[in-house]
Amino acid sequence: MSKILDLIDKLYETHSLSLDEYEYLITHKCDEATEKLRTYAVANRRKFYSNHVFVRGLIEVSNICKNDCYYCGIRKSNENCDRYRLSKEEILSCCNEGYELGFRTFVLQGGEDGTFTDTWLCDLISAIKNRYPDCAITLSLGERTKESYQKLYNSGANRYLLRHETADELHYSQLHPSNLTLENRIKCLRDLKEIGFQVGCGFMVGSPYQSVKNIAQDLKFIEEFSPHMCGIGPFIPHKDTIFKNEKAGDAQLCCYLLSIIRLIKPNILLPATTALGTVKNDGRERGILSGANVIMPNLSPLSVRKKYALYDNKISTGDESAQSLQNLKKSMHAIGYEVVVDRGDINTISKE
Ligand code: SAH
Repeated sequence: MSKILDLIDKLYETHSLSLDEYEYLITHKCDEATEKLRTYAVANRRKFYSNHVFVRGLIEVSNICKNDCYYCGIRKSNENCDRYRLSKEEILSCCNEGYELGFRTFVLQGGEDGTFTDTWLCDLISAIKNRYPDCAITLSLGERTKESYQKLYNSGANRYLLRHETADELHYSQLHPSNLTLENRIKCLRDLKEIGFQVGCGFMVGSPYQSVKNIAQDLKFIEEFSPHMCGIGPFIPHKDTIFKNEKAGDAQLCCYLLSIIRLIKPNILLPATTALGTVKNDGRERGILSGANVIMPNLSPLSVRKKYALYDNKISTGDESAQSLQNLKKSMHAIGYEVVVDRGDINTISKE
């Protein structure tokens, strides 16, 4: 019993464990370890962010995608997916609504839609920056060339989310067709970091074929890559994919991993994801209580929210939406946290 508690102390002090040690943490998960991790995670988060929760307005710009990721509901070969793409005007009007509500970060996420040329995106990014100079722009538009990322950065984009999905090559090939490689994914992440973006990687918890060792590899990758942000959420099957009969990832394990990631990098920006809120009613609150400090409510037009279905049963009308920010504020307040109007950049200075 005490070995796991000792490992948690070691992680808290050194922010690093070996692959075997990460694996041990996961296989020996128990209530006492969960509690200890959570206590340390909350202490770490408080040092950098007090009791503040950052919100990001998530705008799902397109569900058109040239890729065929086996787990994803908007994969190219899903003929049942009702495709859409927002116009620049629609995106700007989402930003406008978000700004009024108090959002100071806009996240533009979408499939790898060929219409999103550098010119089109740079024009959009400049327009958002012009109107909302006090806001951060986060992109989550998949793999592009370094030259393209550089142009987007030069136009005013600040952050980029690109989950690595899994740090194991074999596992990567079990989740993606052969034209998508872990090598290129990692290259993109390194390019983004070199350019100067605040970068987010991440993975799904409980994706098909994922072993405990794979999760340990993900944690080691996060430790070594040291991203500014990290998105993890449970895998949820989608009915039109080959993984439709697979079981969803576990919310408790996801929260346990959020605490571990907060110990690996105490000042990381760590969202309690929509997927976590989908598998458990109070998933997002549990995520925050486990060490997360970011929530990404949906700012997409209501008419398209159901269409951006990466997985089944995505929450899409209730408290997850940006319009329900008041409810979110209340539910965060009830657990001792405060939603703030702030860009919410990574904080590098400890307050303690
Ligand atoms: N095209 C962009 C955005 C992808 S959607 C990109 O490639 O980065 C954002 C994330 O949703 C993905 O990185 C993936 O980890 C997650 N996701 C996709 N399908 C999912 C599913 N069925 N269950 C849970 N998460 C999923």
